[in-house]
Amino acid sequence: MKTVYLGLGSSIGDKEGIITSALAEIEKWGSNFSVSSFFYSKPWGGVAKNMFLNVVCSIDVVDTLSSDALLDMAQLLEKKFLRTRTLRWEDRTLDIDILLYGDEKVCTNRLVIPHPYILERDFVYIPLLEVFSRCDTKESLRMYLEFVESGVEYGM
Ligand code: ADP
Ligand code: MG
Repeated sequence: MKTVYLGLGSSIGDKEGIITSALAEIEKWGSNFSVSSFFYSKPWGGVAKNMFLNVVCSIDVVDTLSSDALLDMAQLLEKKFLRTRTLRWEDRTLDIDILLYGDEKVCTNRLVIPHPYILERDFVYIPLLEVFSRCDTKESLRMYLEFVESGVEYGM
């Protein structure tokens, strides 16, 4: 088994409903499911006007579930919620990012894991720290991410 961490975000529609339904689907992908608090944040970048709702969840999945297959499942779930929304197609009703995939570094043209902006985004690293029991501060998370990115096996 490996533990994967997913970041979910929603900024339009019934955000709580969308996130809650998506989490219920994700829970079926493995075991030992856990979810952070709901994190509300103001939009940044000057385009979006709505408040964002973000959560991070973790789940243990079988080793045979590749990061690619996990991305397929996440994208299918995104599509499922996009399809129910016809207005404002340009906006995202549901975004699912793979933040961590075990202790593995992945770098392909489809996937970069650890997700590159974890530490830059409050709405990602704060809820991540809630469910990631191996780190309890931003600094320890930074160290962990550096280990994973260096490709050196993490041990402490
Ligand atoms: P964003 O999350 O930056 O708003 P999208 O959700 O539209 O953008 O994702 C764009 C692409 O990012 C996806 O098609 C996917 O292939 C790629 N991607 C790269 N790394 C990751 C990751 N760790 N998790 C999810 N998607 C990723
Ligand atoms: Mg995304």
